[in-house]
Amino acid sequence: MELADYLLHDEPFYRPVGNEVHLYEVAYAARMPVMLKGPTGVGKTRFIEHMAWRLKRPLVTVACHEDMTASDLVGRYLLDSAGTAWHDGPLAVAVRHGAICYLDEIVEARQDTTVVIHPLADDRRVLPIEKRNELVRAHPDFHLVISYNPGYQSVLKDLKESTKQRFGAIDFNYPAAEVEAEIVAHESGVDMAVAERLVRAGQRSRNLRGHGLEEGASTRMLIHAGRLIARGVSADEAFEMAVILPITDDPDIRSALREAVAALS
Ligand code: ADP
Repeated sequence: MELADYLLHDEPFYRPVGNEVHLYEVAYAARMPVMLKGPTGVGKTRFIEHMAWRLKRPLVTVACHEDMTASDLVGRYLLDSAGTAWHDGPLAVAVRHGAICYLDEIVEARQDTTVVIHPLADDRRVLPIEKRNELVRAHPDFHLVISYNPGYQSVLKDLKESTKQRFGAIDFNYPAAEVEAEIVAHESGVDMAVAERLVRAGQRSRNLRGHGLEEGASTRMLIHAGRLIARGVSADEAFEMAVILPITDDPDIRSALREAVAALS
């Protein structure tokens, strides 16, 4: 792993929604681990990319999943032509070299995997690598960030209390309509009038949350629709392809969504 590959050279566009940029900077300065909370597609990943660029730190991102083991994070011995050699995992790389480590969708990981971050997420700031009998002290610039979608929470899938209580949290949600339209216009290339219409349709889908939809259309989905429109697809077809079909298989919900869009034109 070349750490230089993890530096962001161009500014990732991020439109602040509240005081999150300042709060993150202060948490970083205090080296307080941070949890980004909110539904999918509302800008958590873009935010941390922007912050890594701002703070000039490399960003190591790990998409967590249920088969992930502690070795996937910390590292393992691998066989090569010269015998066995130790390979740091992404977390160990970030810890040694002072990167921001972003563990995306941490609840997906099994709890026995999640506990490896505990000694890093308190005043000790160490990563024990048992297989090497090594205790790595975190580089002073190392920062631990996790993302967490409270909507997916269940008794089986929730963070342990001892994990949660190690983090400060920043809440992400769908931005106010004008701000969201600005983001959709910027990211997809449609004009503000089209972006506003997409956002209103998105808001209607969010009202169906809990009434057949697990989650409404995210900003990401609205941007997808906008990109199709910017390339000449009609608004109805774009919304169908980018939002209605991916989000639900239920014919009634699909027609409710279609009606919501039609009512806007
Ligand atoms: P999450 O990590 O919350 O699932 P992302 O950060 O991937 O979501 O956001 C999805 C897309 O939405 C991004 O690629 C970006 O285009 C856009 N986006 C959402 N919120 C913002 C924002 N505040 N500023 C800029 N872009 C945003």
